Amino acid sequence: PLATLDDASLLRTQALIGGEWVSGSSGARFPVHDPATGALLAEVANLGAVDAEAAVAAANNAWPAWRTKPAKERAAIMQRWFQLLIRHADDLARIMTAEQGKPLFEARGEVTYGASFIEWFAEEGRRIYGETIPTTDNNKRYLAIKQPIGVCAAITPWNFPIAMITRKVAPALAAGCTVVIKPAEATPLSALAVAELAQRAGMPAGVLNVLSADADASIAIGQVLCDSPVVRHLSFTGSTEVGRILMRQCAPTIKKLSLELGGNAPFIVFDDADLDSAVEGALVSKYRNAGQTCVCANRFYVQEGVYDAFVEKLAAKVAGIKVGNGFTPGINQGPLIDDAAITKVEAHVADALALGARLVVGGRRAEALGLRFFEPTLLADATPDMLCAREETFGPVAPVFKFKTEAEAIALANNTEFGLASYFYSRDIGRVFRVGEALEYGMVGVNTGLISTAEVPFGGVKQSGLGREGARQGIEDYVEIKYLCLGDL
Ligand code: ADP
Repeated sequence: PLATLDDASLLRTQALIGGEWVSGSSGARFPVHDPATGALLAEVANLGAVDAEAAVAAANNAWPAWRTKPAKERAAIMQRWFQLLIRHADDLARIMTAEQGKPLFEARGEVTYGASFIEWFAEEGRRIYGETIPTTDNNKRYLAIKQPIGVCAAITPWNFPIAMITRKVAPALAAGCTVVIKPAEATPLSALAVAELAQRAGMPAGVLNVLSADADASIAIGQVLCDSPVVRHLSFTGSTEVGRILMRQCAPTIKKLSLELGGNAPFIVFDDADLDSAVEGALVSKYRNAGQTCVCANRFYVQEGVYDAFVEKLAAKVAGIKVGNGFTPGINQGPLIDDAAITKVEAHVADALALGARLVVGGRRAEALGLRFFEPTLLADATPDMLCAREETFGPVAPVFKFKTEAEAIALANNTEFGLASYFYSRDIGRVFRVGEALEYGMVGVNTGLISTAEVPFGGVKQSGLGREGARQGIEDYVEIKYLCLGDL
């Protein structure tokens, strides 16, 4: 699939340190595979701890000039970078579908979404306002200014190979920080293509560095980034388990952390919901990216009065989802990312069926397509003891639970250590406020299954993470507040 790029030079297989494309100190490479076919796509530089030190040093060297550049000049470079992502959106989408598997139209959508963070933060970077504080002493004046925190590290996942990078890197760069990025081992090509475009946009050497690495080397690099006293901030999107490891590793240097971790999103349908709208919302929220997003609905709670009708309507739609290679026109669900992902989905389905769930649609691997494809699946009569009620399935499986009262739905929805996204459908304005305020989640979609955009604060509560990405708040993690006390006036 990568032979058809309009601009073949977007396909970078070396890492970027200090403005140079490098093979890394060991010269080792690691394979990147197409999840749909298993085919080898490229061999990419496998960097390690020594290279991570070099990247941190490069970022630190670049920092003084970058932080003192007027925000408007940083914004101009970022705007050019944004425009280049848009101009090369088709190629970026092809690279993404090849290594990640998502349908080409979804990949195209992610490029636009990912690019939008660069545009948004280029604009926001010019509005990092401080404060003057009314004095309590006529001989003194108080000021609070905001300054870039310093060298920032970003460790990103494979499910959104571009957007999870831009959502972290754009606010950092706009604030005047420099960055070291460690993209997911499954999807380095998208990250490197985006870095190539940053170079073309005129990003100064060392301001943006990318360390490609396989799973083992990623751990070694992560350790260096956490240990470094020069790195002042670590932003991570991925599993809660790895988030805990990184948080622990960052304790000795008291690093600032932004963590966007796992979710276990409830999707509640009340008796008074517009059912067709709820079914549409359920489809996009559950099956987008084959269920591999941290905001995907994981548990469907449906009130008894509309339970049977909802299951029937959703079943008809789920049966219509076309699974296949992301490059095949007309398909809307690609493969899962790897064998472990397939195994987990199978285990959740088997567990649910063993504990009494009813299989309505799907339920098996779509073996005719390849080993990584799973049928869009709908399970009815799910119960709280099932694995799918407690853990994020991260696959195309919708378990539906029946409930009676609003209080019961809220209690069930909140009964998890996670608190990222949640959704509910109701046309009753009182209920909209009651439930919206009662859900212990960082984000609530009311009568919609799609909530994310660059302008809004994305993030979780409880064990789903720390900090917010996007929105005007997204820049706060990348600045420190400095209080200046002017005396002897
Ligand atoms: P996922 O479940 O999305 O694969 P992970 O949390 O395993 O999420 O991985 C997300 C990112 O974290 C990837 O870039 C991966 O290489 C990186 N990673 C995983 N384990 C570690 C670790 N111990 N230290 C640093 N980075 C890690």
